[in-house]
Amino acid sequence: MPAVYHPLTEEEAVQYVRSRLPGFFFPDAQLFSREIGDGNLNLVFRVLDASTKRSLIVKQALPYARVVGESWPLTLDRARIESEALKIEGELVPGRVPRVYHDDPELALTVMEDCSDHIILRKGLIARKRYPHLAEHMAEFLARTLFFTSDLYLSPEETKARVRQFINPETCKIAEDLAFSHPHYDADTNSFNPLIRRDVEAIWKDDALRREVAVLKERFMTCGQALVHGDLHTGSIMVTEQDTKVIDPEFAYYGPMGFDIGALLANLFLSYASHEGLTEDPDERRSYRRWLLQTAEDVWNGFLERFYRLWDEHVKDAMWSAPGYREGYALRLLQDSAGFAGCKMMRRVIGLAPVADLETIEPLEVRAAAERQALRIGVQLVLRRGQMRRIEDITALVRREGEGECG
Ligand code: ADP
Ligand code: MG
Repeated sequence: MPAVYHPLTEEEAVQYVRSRLPGFFFPDAQLFSREIGDGNLNLVFRVLDASTKRSLIVKQALPYARVVGESWPLTLDRARIESEALKIEGELVPGRVPRVYHDDPELALTVMEDCSDHIILRKGLIARKRYPHLAEHMAEFLARTLFFTSDLYLSPEETKARVRQFINPETCKIAEDLAFSHPHYDADTNSFNPLIRRDVEAIWKDDALRREVAVLKERFMTCGQALVHGDLHTGSIMVTEQDTKVIDPEFAYYGPMGFDIGALLANLFLSYASHEGLTEDPDERRSYRRWLLQTAEDVWNGFLERFYRLWDEHVKDAMWSAPGYREGYALRLLQDSAGFAGCKMMRRVIGLAPVADLETIEPLEVRAAAERQALRIGVQLVLRRGQMRRIEDITALVRREGEGECG
């Protein structure tokens, strides 16, 4: 097979793993290959030996965005970013990401552990499943990946070398446009439920909100605090009752830590809003929402406890040890997380790439009620983020804005 880039077929994925990972399957194994990618950007092949049940994933970047088509070209370098980020995350938090078996910059692909016994967290949340270890696993993932890739731990030279390694302008541009710009004016890429047009127009006209989103956009573009995953929504987390795996770090770059924390919080709060429409029984809805908000609180509190522990153990720079600096840093992180969460909630209602949690609600009137809740929570998280002192202030805001209309 030529090593020059071309999108693989299902058969070529088999030939590829046979030739590049000769020890993985028995030479005479009969291998099945299927493209299972339900994502927006890439090909994902699952290659399986049905008799031994051994399997792996071959994820290959396409030179364009799959959702839109060839008219939206996209760099193949994101495959390198993804495999390098997966390796760093795997070392920092063993078991929390798929293991990388092999990567190939020419073909823009990564061969990795198959996590098909897990499901995408978003699907689990839609089905009102509860995951008792999710908060603890994500707290650990966030604390360790963010702390150990930041200036709090690395030397200034090491951090700058990493910043260079993870320059990712094209995927950053997608986030800059889709998360921080398009939802705030009448952009062509937007697509939303026609029943909420008045609510969306109010957002477009809200100058105070636009100003605050601009501040967050600037922070996204200029604050290289740590190696962030960059797309940490509930479609990038795979779960079983016992286990949690974070996939798909192709948007990784040096950015603000709160962007990752905020992405996860936003998606828990989007789920919260979605159960307005997904769950009819009020007791069941209340009880599931309580679990979602408890999970959000446990993620942050678990993160902070670990982050402080890592800080006390590893921070060397005398300036970082100035009294109160650590607590001020954590407060800025909390407020950033609230702001980024708010932006992400608005974009998922107004912009390109809606979330299934809301999109699957029928009829449109019921969906609109859930979407209005998501928008209200998003707007207030952005506007009031400076008043947030603890995670419980954030969950109280979600409860207030979410239940304001519908009791
Ligand atoms: P994209 O970046 O194109 O969105 P993802 O990495 O999110 O691609 O993968 C798309 C889908 O492929 C996921 O939603 C998941 O169902 C499946 N998938 C991706 N990686 C794995 C893996 N390591 N194990 C099992 N399934 C995977
Ligand atoms: Mg992706």
